[in-house]
Amino acid sequence: MINTLDYIQYPEGTHNGLLCPTCRGGFTGERTLSVTIEGNKIKWYCFRASCNEMGISQGGGVNKNTASPQPKTPFVPDTIRRVALPIRDIRGRQVGDVWYRNKHYPNLQPKALIHMDHPAAPLLHFPKVPIGDTIALVEDIYSANRLSREFPCAALLGTVFNNEKALYLLNHGIKSIIMMLDNDATNKAVKYMLDYFMVKRVITLHNDVKDMSEEEFELTVEELNDTRREITGCNNI
Ligand SMILES: [Zn+2]
Repeated sequence: MINTLDYIQYPEGTHNGLLCPTCRGGFTGERTLSVTIEGNKIKWYCFRASCNEMGISQGGGVNKNTASPQPKTPFVPDTIRRVALPIRDIRGRQVGDVWYRNKHYPNLQPKALIHMDHPAAPLLHFPKVPIGDTIALVEDIYSANRLSREFPCAALLGTVFNNEKALYLLNHGIKSIIMMLDNDATNKAVKYMLDYFMVKRVITLHNDVKDMSEEEFELTVEELNDTRREITGCNNI
């Protein structure tokens, strides 16, 4: 359990590499706790796969030195013009929301707003806790939610894959990735494959998974299952 008094004097912003008092970093004493100070709000998130520590604490009668200016305006959800979909981490914990524009406001910009309650959590959404060590990565949350009924997957919430996401997946037992990006992101997908050994295959899509016909969806799932078999076969050599 975190004692927020330990962090109350930290400056505004996110502090990584702290020792988590709950798991104490395991045998190796890894410093996996991230603490974010925003005004009188404290958020914390432990990256260790076997640790459940995360939370938010606000105010609570704790006197924080508020002499420093607070440049960040608080996030005010636009519940009239937008609808929220939860962002879940690999263990199923909600770490934020994507606020899509309501269909009655088709011109509202941007189309989607991401708000993370736990800024330390990597920008990935897992509709279900994945089974096995191979997952597909798609771009958007709707596609991931649809695909998750048939294949373990996560949404990149965009097209960015980076060291932080790779490390997070590796730390949680994911060894192989099948990258499923739009046609127009093919260059990126190729680069990810060259840069990251864990990106074993790239499937370029003509349609987002969320927009596929039922037939096209079934074929895609079949292709994913075949691809996973190939990958697993390679790993056993
Ligand atoms: Zn921990």
